[in-house]
Amino acid sequence: MPLSKVYDITIVGGGIVGLATAYKLQKKYPDLTLAVLEKEDRLASHQTGRNSGVIHSGLYYRPGSYRATNCVNGRKQLVAFAKAYDIDYDVCGKIVVATQEEELPRLEKIRENGIKNGLVGIEVIDKARIKEIEPYIEGIKALWVPESGIIDFKGVTIKLAELIKEINPESEIITNCEVKHLEKGEISKVYTNLGTYKSRYLVFCAGLHSDRMARKDKVNLDMRIVGFRGDYYDLTEVGMKKIKNLVYPVPNPEFPFLGVHFTRMTDGTIECGPNAVFTFKREGYGKTDFNIVDTVEALLYKGTWKLFFKHWRFGLNEYKRAFSKRLFLKQLQRMCPGLTMDDIKPGRSGVRAMALGDTGDVIDDFKIECQDRSIHVLNAPSPAATACLAIGDEVMAMAEKHFGL
Ligand SMILES: Cc1cc2nc3c(=O)[nH]c(=O)nc-3n(C[C@H](O)[C@H](O)[C@H](O)COP(=O)(O)OP(=O)(O)OC[C@H]3O[C@@H](n4cnc5c(N)ncnc54)[C@H](O)[C@@H]3O)c2cc1C
Repeated sequence: MPLSKVYDITIVGGGIVGLATAYKLQKKYPDLTLAVLEKEDRLASHQTGRNSGVIHSGLYYRPGSYRATNCVNGRKQLVAFAKAYDIDYDVCGKIVVATQEEELPRLEKIRENGIKNGLVGIEVIDKARIKEIEPYIEGIKALWVPESGIIDFKGVTIKLAELIKEINPESEIITNCEVKHLEKGEISKVYTNLGTYKSRYLVFCAGLHSDRMARKDKVNLDMRIVGFRGDYYDLTEVGMKKIKNLVYPVPNPEFPFLGVHFTRMTDGTIECGPNAVFTFKREGYGKTDFNIVDTVEALLYKGTWKLFFKHWRFGLNEYKRAFSKRLFLKQLQRMCPGLTMDDIKPGRSGVRAMALGDTGDVIDDFKIECQDRSIHVLNAPSPAATACLAIGDEVMAMAEKHFGL
């Protein structure tokens, strides 16, 4: 029973960031007793288990940003981890394809970014080389990025949990345990549906609920999480012959998304997507899912309206595409003109936790804040799954400083 035991650190959230953070703490401080509390019946139920499964190289992110440094560092750690623990992965490389002349300066900018971020082996390739790598893809130029890859992020999360228990059997990973309220003190009380947990320190890695957890902890917030759903299509057996690995468009810098792309998953299937549609339910994976609290909260926030006004045309087009297979296909055909309606079938979806500032600007960098005796990972957007072990290091360094470990 939770009531009598006092944990050293309780981590709220059983996604890849929560588990990577717990693992890093446990590995360096094996005597700490940790509790990881996850509200779902299994780990990695939300963003982590519903993402594209791509090991990002670190190509797109502003040099010097948290995202850039942690992506590159985290990717290296992740690949080493996958190798050591027999997790499915493949550093297969990817191409970023320009289909129009006007995309070429942006492609060059991305290449320069990648080089500044320390990526190795990036090459600008021509039409003929594109065809050698991906015979069905049409582009005028592309970037070949050999350090990108694919991985089973759920498998990573589960392995991290196993390792924590191996290092310290007194630590616990508790599912079906939703944190409802907090009472902070030298020994904090964490009220959940399973009872009250006591802990000296708290770390929150609650993904789509990071702002709500922070508010419960009285953190002064100038941001709010809004959910953006991404739908995927799967390639059918015939369609699968048309894509080998990873094919991305040149992203539009106006928008915080990479654009729909083709991804070979570690189980051999090939997906295309995700689009980006405002969702009326933070953990809503159906096209018409709705939650009154999530909707009212999002629509009462001025940042949401500012975002809508700034990007209404993009938002409208994404909505249309969400309900039209034909329009979705049209977008894919920009890179793969030979793809047909019979080549794709509706697949799964995921919801991104997008942190919006009061001005309607998307907060694109990772954001981690310390509060008295607690740490909040407030914003961990893509590539946070790739960067999870580096984010774990960041949180651990903060914990050492603020908790005096
Ligand atoms: C569609 C999509 C595609 C993406 N593609 C990629 C990609 O290819 N590569 C990449 O690196 N990144 C990708 N990302 C981003 C990546 O998935 C996320 O950055 C990462 O998974 C964040 O992990 P997390 O642990 O912070 O969040 P989550 O995985 O969402 O975990 C948070 C956990 O906290 C739990 N929780 C919340 N509130 C409570 C509570 N009150 N009590 C107990 N538990 C609670 C939730 O149930 C959840 O399990 C993608 C994301 C999406 C949505």
